[in-house]
Amino acid sequence: MNKSDGERVQTVIEGMGYRWTDKEEEAGLLGILACSVRQKSIDKVYSRIRKWNAWKKSNNLLTFVSGCILPADRTKFLKLFDFIFPVSEIFQLPDMISQYGIVTPHQQITAKATLPVGKSAGFSDIHLDAKRGKVVQPLFVKPEEHIHDFWTIRPSYNSSCEAYIPIQNGCDKFCTYCAVPYTRGREVSRSSAEILNELKELVKKGYKSVTLLGQNVNSYGLDKHGHEITFPQLLKEIGEFGQNSGKRFWVYFTSPHPCDMSDEVFDVIATYPCLAKQIHLPLQSGDDDVLKKMNRKHTVEDYMKIIASIRKFLPDATIFTDIIVGFTGENEEQFEHSRQIMEIVKYNMAYVAIYSPRPGAVSAKWEDDVPMDVKKQRLHKLNEELIKHTKEYNRRLIGRKISILVTGTDRKGGFLSGYTEGRIVARFASTDRSLIGSYAEIEVASASPYAIEGELVLKPEFPVR
Ligand code: SF4
Repeated sequence: MNKSDGERVQTVIEGMGYRWTDKEEEAGLLGILACSVRQKSIDKVYSRIRKWNAWKKSNNLLTFVSGCILPADRTKFLKLFDFIFPVSEIFQLPDMISQYGIVTPHQQITAKATLPVGKSAGFSDIHLDAKRGKVVQPLFVKPEEHIHDFWTIRPSYNSSCEAYIPIQNGCDKFCTYCAVPYTRGREVSRSSAEILNELKELVKKGYKSVTLLGQNVNSYGLDKHGHEITFPQLLKEIGEFGQNSGKRFWVYFTSPHPCDMSDEVFDVIATYPCLAKQIHLPLQSGDDDVLKKMNRKHTVEDYMKIIASIRKFLPDATIFTDIIVGFTGENEEQFEHSRQIMEIVKYNMAYVAIYSPRPGAVSAKWEDDVPMDVKKQRLHKLNEELIKHTKEYNRRLIGRKISILVTGTDRKGGFLSGYTEGRIVARFASTDRSLIGSYAEIEVASASPYAIEGELVLKPEFPVR
């Protein structure tokens, strides 16, 4: 989501006439889109701003922070950054800078700041901190308030073949370990007409992989109470467009919540070739009591019914997940239940995270009582479990001809890399950079737990997942 937000932030900054520099120390404007999911990311923000503030003694430097910021950090950031605002307010950055007494490069030329069409230059939620002489956004009372304006900003896509389309922002689920509902606000769905237009434009330009984004992507439309189409209906419209476009592209989505998942979603995906046969379904825990404590609002049985539906409608689909280990009070038996689910589902990828309390989230009030060494052991065990299955799955692909989207050069010199429709990482020996951004067929020669390697074959074959 931050990557996607960053593409819109980039547009606004470039609209102010700023140019990008590779040398951080030479910049006149430096900003961070923060992520509060883990403390480590926030620690990085503090170390960065300390460095930047030291540079201010000799540089004319302005700093800002936006993104997912917890209330406790927000208070501290106010003292460290020049500007702090919800990302949905980025279009007000030119005004904030002017108010600060700085003339942006673009203003030097045109004496006029660039704002999205139809946006007034007012800044109702921003005030001047008279004591410090700074323009600040003191509170994120409703971080979702200007999200529709934010979505109208044309993104500066950072890839010529892969793109993200935000379709929904915020969350109403309130999982006890998560701070998103407090940092991003309540669920707001983007208009389906806008989403489809953005998709059509991307496909027209030749994009081959598009990911629909949202904190709770499959609750799309529900906040509009019948005045917007639902998530499966949106997928259907995308599928129909794919059928009629005559172009080949893959559409993914992340992250869905099991509670809002229905067979209809998988049925639609099975119907249309452009809807990628890859499902990310967060598990978080394989134990009912832990799920309850996490306020996930579903049981393991509910979750496994969804897995059964995926296997029924989409037998070739790859399945990814997220799991937390060491959540408050998680005992060995409860952890073992998570491992058992991994054994049954045989995920193609699992993002396993060690639980850390997020200030502001409900669980932060509870004792973080699982020792770190135990959490690390559990993380290791789940990663071992994952590898067993990914290795086996990937090995079964050896000898097969597989369609992949080539996305760039590989770290291994002389190789290009990309991924299959099921998002299995793939690489093959080639230095032909003209293949980047197109589909290629490879014959798989070897496999590791996290990737496959093959040889480029000239004759296109039917894609496999
Ligand atoms: S569903 Fe839960 S984990 Fe996901 S964003 Fe909402 S509160 Fe956070």
